[in-house]
Amino acid sequence: MNLLSSSATWAQEEHHMFADSVKRFYQDELSPNIDRWVENGIVDREFWNKAGEAGLMGGAIAEEYGGSGGGLGFDSIALYEQSAKGDSSWGYGIQSIVVHYIVAYGTPEQKERWLPKLVSGEMVAAIAMTEPGCGSDLQAVQTTAVKDGNQYRINGSKIFITNGQMADLVIVVAKTDKSEGAKGVSLIAVETDGAEGYTRGRNLDKLGLKGNDTSELFFEDVKVPMTNLLGTEEGQGFYQLMKQLPWERLLIGITALGSIDYAISETVRYTQDRKAFGQRVMDFQNTRFKLAECKTKAEVLRSFVNDCIARLEAGKLDAATASMAKYWGSQTQNEIMNECLQLHGGYGYMNEFPIARLYADARVQMIYGGSNEIMKELIARSIDV
Ligand SMILES: Cc1cc2nc3c(=O)[nH]c(=O)nc-3n(C[C@H](O)[C@H](O)[C@H](O)COP(=O)(O)OP(=O)(O)OC[C@H]3O[C@@H](n4cnc5c(N)ncnc54)[C@H](O)[C@@H]3O)c2cc1C
Repeated sequence: MNLLSSSATWAQEEHHMFADSVKRFYQDELSPNIDRWVENGIVDREFWNKAGEAGLMGGAIAEEYGGSGGGLGFDSIALYEQSAKGDSSWGYGIQSIVVHYIVAYGTPEQKERWLPKLVSGEMVAAIAMTEPGCGSDLQAVQTTAVKDGNQYRINGSKIFITNGQMADLVIVVAKTDKSEGAKGVSLIAVETDGAEGYTRGRNLDKLGLKGNDTSELFFEDVKVPMTNLLGTEEGQGFYQLMKQLPWERLLIGITALGSIDYAISETVRYTQDRKAFGQRVMDFQNTRFKLAECKTKAEVLRSFVNDCIARLEAGKLDAATASMAKYWGSQTQNEIMNECLQLHGGYGYMNEFPIARLYADARVQMIYGGSNEIMKELIARSIDV
């Protein structure tokens, strides 16, 4: 299956060419490593550099910063193809999110300093919003960034941070004005190499996404130059976060579709091979009907996701529609993983079968990037105007 089906009206010839080269790259460099990354709890650092060399991470970045000057359709392809290979370990989604914060809000100096390294894989990025005491309610962040001469002093702790173990650049959501709610929030970049007072907690033990590192991060009087404020004005952080959310949410819908396509193909293969009562499991009407339902849901999601990518490329993807892609995509993913696992019988529950991992990986898609309850709140706001 492909993202670039007939519903991908946004896709040009260069997108198809990019998809082919991404597939080849993943086939050679990603697929052989998936099991080992899951076992190690983290991807190889060199994989980031290889992906950079292959031009995977710069599709949507201007040429002057080392990219190829396209739009987010390129990142959509890279993310879809990764999950369609059954991988959930490589944290490219977060890298893409951070890169587009810098593209949207970075000063020319910040873009020059960070974008080329993020495109080449020399730098790995993380975004640190969530804290032990707050996730959905981001206005309540406790981390502070206090001015001290021409520096900020950052204090606080963050939790559940994807890419936290190896991030070289962390965008920290912090209060520059504690007396304000949303208006007191700013985004500040921390270059972690040699940053005094910055520590990583352990790589957290999760239900799924076993090869994708997730960490607590601690900031104790971490000093960064004031020029690390993203943009030029304090108190813009909440607005900046809200503006970028459509991409963060859509990309969860895109990866949901990739995983679904992979799960269906694995399940078709398994049920064609497996025999019960003297016939292939595929030949039971229940199996055929269940797979027909899964396929239908996948095609409906594909059309919607492609419509959202087209809107995003045209600068017209609104928050409510992106929230639908995240909510619907992740919920559909969970429903389909459940059905596909069931069709594997007991083997589906064994970790050596990919469907067991896909089932566990799917669960968090309904939680992170804004929980599905928050998505419904946002969608409801667009109804009750
Ligand atoms: C594997 C993983 C990776 C992650 N990666 C990152 C990352 O890279 N960076 C980062 O900053 N964060 C990351 N997160 C954090 C994630 O975004 C948060 O867990 C998520 O936003 C939910 O916040 P919370 O855990 O504090 O739950 P809470 O906000 O405490 O929510 C608990 C429950 O209450 C519900 N709830 C809360 N508010 C409302 C409301 N207004 N109406 C109805 N229901 C509500 C929620 O939906 C949820 O069911 C990650 C999380 C995980 C598990």
